[in-house]
Amino acid sequence: MNLLKALDVAYGLLKSNNISSYKIDSELLLSDSLNISKEELILNLKKKITIDSYNKFLLKIERRRANEPIAYILKKKEFWKNEFYINKNVLIPRPETEHLVEETLNIFSKNQKKKLLEIGIGSGCLITSILKDRKNCSAIGIDNCLKAVKIAKINAKLHHITNRVKIIKTDVDNFNSGKYDLIISNPPYIDKHQLKYLGVSEYEPLKALNGGINGIEMLIKVINKSSQLLKVNGKLIVEIGSDQKYIVTRILKKNKFYINKIVKDLSNYDRCIVSTKLN
Ligand code: GLN
Repeated sequence: MNLLKALDVAYGLLKSNNISSYKIDSELLLSDSLNISKEELILNLKKKITIDSYNKFLLKIERRRANEPIAYILKKKEFWKNEFYINKNVLIPRPETEHLVEETLNIFSKNQKKKLLEIGIGSGCLITSILKDRKNCSAIGIDNCLKAVKIAKINAKLHHITNRVKIIKTDVDNFNSGKYDLIISNPPYIDKHQLKYLGVSEYEPLKALNGGINGIEMLIKVINKSSQLLKVNGKLIVEIGSDQKYIVTRILKKNKFYINKIVKDLSNYDRCIVSTKLN
């Protein structure tokens, strides 16, 4: 069997399960099974596939067919300017979260030396992206999930920032050390009652999405902690749900934060709040 025929089989399998991205997914999974780039694959469609590779490929296609996100099967996802190692223990990095990177980079210029904290580091894609673009900054990243901490450490290593980041397994309530110029967080913010209706992938870790009642329980913790750990005039940048702008700005103001900016994502939903701790 040649590669083209293998792809054809995969197209059929994915199509029959209504996977609309069947073409690109099959190509990505085949190149991944063969350890070659997609371009190389396309140039070599007439080449033969070994039984071993074909079986490996079909196993991945079966996973995709069961609706497992392609990022988990490939164990990687592009975010900002880089590729990150991920697995089912962390949320798949989302494009809307790139606004948090962009806003942080807007605040600090290239050579500034600042201390950052990320609450709920997950895969580490946020803090890693920021530190790669701000070579004099250093950071602490915390997460209450040991499996996520391990992945964040792998990504810090992959991207050569281990000397500037310390990744700690702790929940936000028990973390009390240091004073920071900037705190970022993309906490779980989905209303716990809505989780099942949102069509959130059954494969992703629920505790990275479940924000409790009204989805704001973790946001409240992040804001309280930030008001304690930020320097005066320090910045807090958080990702929020599209319907949380009013409630979160109210909580921020109550905690003596000034609202600098509310950023919309590409789908025009309120997604990110930049604020300053006033005193
Ligand atoms: N934006 C994510 C989603 O809608 C939620 C991320 C989060 O809870 N932090 O799936």
